[in-house]
Amino acid sequence: MEFKSMNLNENAPKIPEGDVEKIKCLIVGSGPAGYTAAIYAARANLNPVVIEGLQPGGQLTTTTEVDNFPGYPEGITGPDMMADLKKQAERFGTDCRWGLVTAVDFSVYPHKVVVDEKKVIEAETVILATGATAKYLGFPTEEKYMGSGVSACATCDGFFYRGKDVAVVGGGDTAAEEATYLAGLCNKVYLIVRKPFLRASKAMQDRVFKTKNIELLFEHNTKELYGDGVVEGAKLIKRMGEEDESEVDIKIDGFFVAIGHTPNSKVFADYLKTDDQGYVITEPDSTKTNVPGVFASGDLKDPHYRQAITSAGSGCMAAMDAERFLAERE
Ligand code: NDP
Repeated sequence: MEFKSMNLNENAPKIPEGDVEKIKCLIVGSGPAGYTAAIYAARANLNPVVIEGLQPGGQLTTTTEVDNFPGYPEGITGPDMMADLKKQAERFGTDCRWGLVTAVDFSVYPHKVVVDEKKVIEAETVILATGATAKYLGFPTEEKYMGSGVSACATCDGFFYRGKDVAVVGGGDTAAEEATYLAGLCNKVYLIVRKPFLRASKAMQDRVFKTKNIELLFEHNTKELYGDGVVEGAKLIKRMGEEDESEVDIKIDGFFVAIGHTPNSKVFADYLKTDDQGYVITEPDSTKTNVPGVFASGDLKDPHYRQAITSAGSGCMAAMDAERFLAERE
């Protein structure tokens, strides 16, 4: 079947020819937002299909213990929690599929979504829950100690460093927030900032400056981490590239990278309004995007909270918004 004749947008991606699957509700992404949207959509008889993406379960599958998701009094591992959410979504008939959305055409209705460059799905509603990816510095020992001292989420992993010395890298609001959060748990927090100033908001900066056990290391860059199986310290370069450049060694057990996140919105970017960082913009108190029938939830639209529970909440909202959208069309 040829779709191009139906396509109103000349710049829209080429949609493969062939059989098309028509569904009511497509959910893209399988973190807490995606699976929660699926639970609600399935219970509302929308027969949702979840396209799970390259990392089924999302960012939480890379963490260890999750102690702050309500309902797990003893805590749970990230992968186990995501397996539970998936099981719950499937219990109500959600069809979870491995695959990657490679193109969309939101200029036509029903919306067209291409999976793995081949399969075309026509969906009356699309819930986007593709999350965001934490940025890392990218040196080899950072990758080596991932999960053994290196983390990109203080709220998730800070608890394991109670009473210890840790470092946070970054100078924005996230780094300032993570450093003050960790200062409440840890003995000492080094805040490693590459510039001679913080980029964080004035209020966040004040909190950092007032916190006694945060030591600011301005104009420092991280060269490498070391330790026997786990992080035991970091080698930093002070005033890199300057005449007085020097090496600094700090003893730490945890290394928290807080240099920002990249929302996974690239594949939808031609159709959806985003902010300058790529976060999808939704109507206030809603998950509605600028395209009718397309809803955004979770970290994809949230540069601020980024918690499993807030993502799950917005996944629930997206399913309810989708259900209402369909009801109003009937
Ligand atoms: P930002 O982009 O604001 O800051 C990133 C920080 O990381 C900058 O200080 C940057 O340094 C530094 N950085 C980037 N790359 C490197 C590198 N390779 N090596 C060392 N340092 C590096 O990201 P945030 O995550 O902090 O914030 C994102 C958005 O979310 C912002 O709009 C922020 O205001 C918002 N936010 C709001 C919160 C709140 O209101 N409570 C909490 C958290 C975030 P440099 O300055 O040199 O570029």
